[in-house]
Amino acid sequence: MAEPLLVLTHIRREFRTGEDSFAALKDINLTIEAGEMVAIIGASGSGKSTLMNILGCLDRPTSGDYRIAGRSVAGMTPDERADLRREHFGFIFQRYHLLDELNALENVEIPAIYGGRSRGAREGRAKELLSRLGMGARLAHRPNQLSGGQQQRVSIARSLMNGAEVILADEPTGALDRQTSGEVLEILKELNAEGHTVIIVTHDPGVAAHARRIIEISDGDIVADRRTETTAEPVTANRPRGAGQRRGWLARIASFGEAARMALIAMNAHRLRSFLTMLGIIIGIASVLCVVALGQGSRERVLANISNLGTNTLEIFPGTDFGDVRSGRIKTLVLDDARALQQQPFAAAVTPTVSTSSTVRLGATEATVMVNGVGDQYFTVKGTRLSEGQFFDADSVRSLVQEVVIDDNTSKTLFPMGTASAIGTIVLIGKVPCRIIGITRRQQSGFGSSQSLTVYLPYTTVQARFLGDPALRSIIVRVADTTPTNRALEAATRLLEQRHGRKDFFVLNTDDIRQTITSTTETLALLIAAIAVISLIVGGVGVMNIMLVSVVERTREIGVRMAVGGRASDILEQFLIEAVLITLIGGVAGILVALGFGIVFNALVPAFSLIYSPLSIVLAFGFSSLIGLVFGFLPARSAARLDPVEALAQ
Ligand code: ADP
Ligand code: MG
Repeated sequence: MAEPLLVLTHIRREFRTGEDSFAALKDINLTIEAGEMVAIIGASGSGKSTLMNILGCLDRPTSGDYRIAGRSVAGMTPDERADLRREHFGFIFQRYHLLDELNALENVEIPAIYGGRSRGAREGRAKELLSRLGMGARLAHRPNQLSGGQQQRVSIARSLMNGAEVILADEPTGALDRQTSGEVLEILKELNAEGHTVIIVTHDPGVAAHARRIIEISDGDIVADRRTETTAEPVTANRPRGAGQRRGWLARIASFGEAARMALIAMNAHRLRSFLTMLGIIIGIASVLCVVALGQGSRERVLANISNLGTNTLEIFPGTDFGDVRSGRIKTLVLDDARALQQQPFAAAVTPTVSTSSTVRLGATEATVMVNGVGDQYFTVKGTRLSEGQFFDADSVRSLVQEVVIDDNTSKTLFPMGTASAIGTIVLIGKVPCRIIGITRRQQSGFGSSQSLTVYLPYTTVQARFLGDPALRSIIVRVADTTPTNRALEAATRLLEQRHGRKDFFVLNTDDIRQTITSTTETLALLIAAIAVISLIVGGVGVMNIMLVSVVERTREIGVRMAVGGRASDILEQFLIEAVLITLIGGVAGILVALGFGIVFNALVPAFSLIYSPLSIVLAFGFSSLIGLVFGFLPARSAARLDPVEALAQ
């Protein structure tokens, strides 16, 4: 004779309640052969369900030995016990324990999904089982659209899904009326006749009478064990073992797909909650993207401004530094300095500058202007461009011509009707009549007041006609492309120190300014990124919070999934995927919101643009799923660690 199917020896199960422990099962010795139909009866609280849970590997005894087909359960891992539940046992509960979000067919399929069976195979079998139990017309009904008896049939079909050598039914008729109870019992008897071992827990002697062996327990001990008729020869149930079962990475992909589908169903069942959870991520991702785009936009603008600083130049001023009060009185920076600098190899071009303010008058129009006296190379040095006319040349500078180049603002002030007749017109600057020979093109610049009116005259003319003073405001040197700015700076400083005998000047170089601005923008970008990351973390904590609540709320569902054979890793996977899906969908929505905002913003604020880089979008996408993984892990793990019995009791 082969090993008996189920053997319990000296099984004891204690529950801790605070300080004391309570023995729900005291010393159970029991052998159940394959093919038996056993009823376990006893008063409420006598330990029937506790025994049933141990039999079904949902729970473990405190002490004693339980062997299934000769194999001890004590040494098994949780996954091995889950495999046993899934492949060898079928549970039927008093309260059916169907999943509300799934229809009858989908509920029946769950054990086969965890068993890794292909969609076609499991759908076929689920339909067959349901039809056989008279539920063929209600495949697509949800549990709340079914009567108690119908729900119990669905749960019987689910228990049979993977074969169920042993059917464990805990008060299967407890919630049903007499007639439906009778029908359910008939089904169980039929299944037994086909070879399934059936164990029914009941407190109803009428139900127990259908069994061929009745075990009575009281206060955690077996008090009676009688057979009403001899056990028929065990028949081997026709089990679809391994039918349509997939293995390897294909199975992994399929199980991943199933978990994703379950996650979508769960999200759909709690639409508002899912949406509110996503909202945190949507706002987080959208604001991060907008802020980064804003940073990018302002950066581009700053870079444009920097390029407007002109080519790489040194500008030498009198005084020790900006704001030196004596600089106005220091008259040491003179034309000879400019000429000396001009001779140096590092200088590509040099221009002295002087400046004063004056008025410009044309007909009845009068305006205050900044008069810049510059050399002929000034425009080369600064990279200024003309929209009309020409610059003055070296000859003009030498001969103190009264020719003026006006800027765009001045031109608009003097010629509001257009510049058609501007070139050649004589204007009065102060008391000096000057002929307009050129108009500069507007330079986009964030620095300096772009509203001010500026005109350019040869510095010789300004010195002679306006200032009567040979001192210069500054000397601007355009550094030769081949010379590093630092070297030019040192050389210029050395030269002027020699000429002046002391350092009564200071040098500004655009390279420094450029670097300062660039590093400022970079610091700003870093700050922005930090804020962005914080807001995303806040969103992630929101996801974690909701997922934790969701785990508590869905404890029973998790218990059911474990009872029908879901492994801890399956539960972990399902909740993780759900968290990742929520954050991923939230991330995509956030990206769309940000892009939409960008379109509106760019349309409304033409001066400034939000620039979305593809990289930031890809990063946002990746980061949002990472948040799901990181913040979904804790809730998913707490779901996976739930005790199946306790979870089911919810
Ligand atoms: P029943 O025969 O009604 O199914 P149970 O097996 O559910 O009885 O419970 C047997 C006894 O064990 C009861 O007194 C019950 O209070 C106790 N019990 C069951 N589960 C737990 C638990 N998780 N913690 C503490 N006591 C429990
Ligand atoms: Mg019970």
